[in-house]
Amino acid sequence: MSNCNLKKGTNFTAYESGATKDWPAHTVELPGLGEIPGKLFLKEVLGLTGCEVSINSMVSGAGMPIYHQHQQNEEVYIFIQGKGQVQVDGEVIDVQEGTIVRIAPKGERIWRNNSTEPLLYIIIQVRENSLNQYGLGDATVPEKAVIWPN
Ligand code: ZN
Repeated sequence: MSNCNLKKGTNFTAYESGATKDWPAHTVELPGLGEIPGKLFLKEVLGLTGCEVSINSMVSGAGMPIYHQHQQNEEVYIFIQGKGQVQVDGEVIDVQEGTIVRIAPKGERIWRNNSTEPLLYIIIQVRENSLNQYGLGDATVPEKAVIWPN
C-alpha cells in the first residue's frame, strides 16, 4: 500500500482501494491458511476503532477451506458482484449481487464462489450487542449553510 492511496484529515481517513477489478491483487496472510488473495482488511488502513471491515474478491471456483466461528463478533457479508454460496451451520444460502447476510458469532461458516465470475463482497465484523445508538439517532446537525469550496 503506497501512501498516495491515503488521504488523512483531522477527522477522516480516505483510502483508494483500487478498481474492483484490481481487488484480487490485495493479499493477506492468515494463520494456518497462508496467503489469501483478494482480501484486504481495513481496520489498520483506516484506523477503525469499532469494527473490522474487509473488501474481498474471490475467484471463480475458490472457497474458504475451513469453517470458522467468532468469540465476540457478528459479521455482515455484503455481496456486491457475482454469485456464490454461504453455508451457516450446514444451511446453504445462495448469494448474489445485493445479498446481505448477518452471521452470529457462534455460526459455523464457510463460503464459496461456485460461479464463473469473480465474487465481490465486503465483510463487516463488529462486537455483538455493542450498538447503543445508530443511524440518525446518533447524528447531530450543526447550524451551518452547505458550501462546496471547489
Ligand atoms: Zn469471520
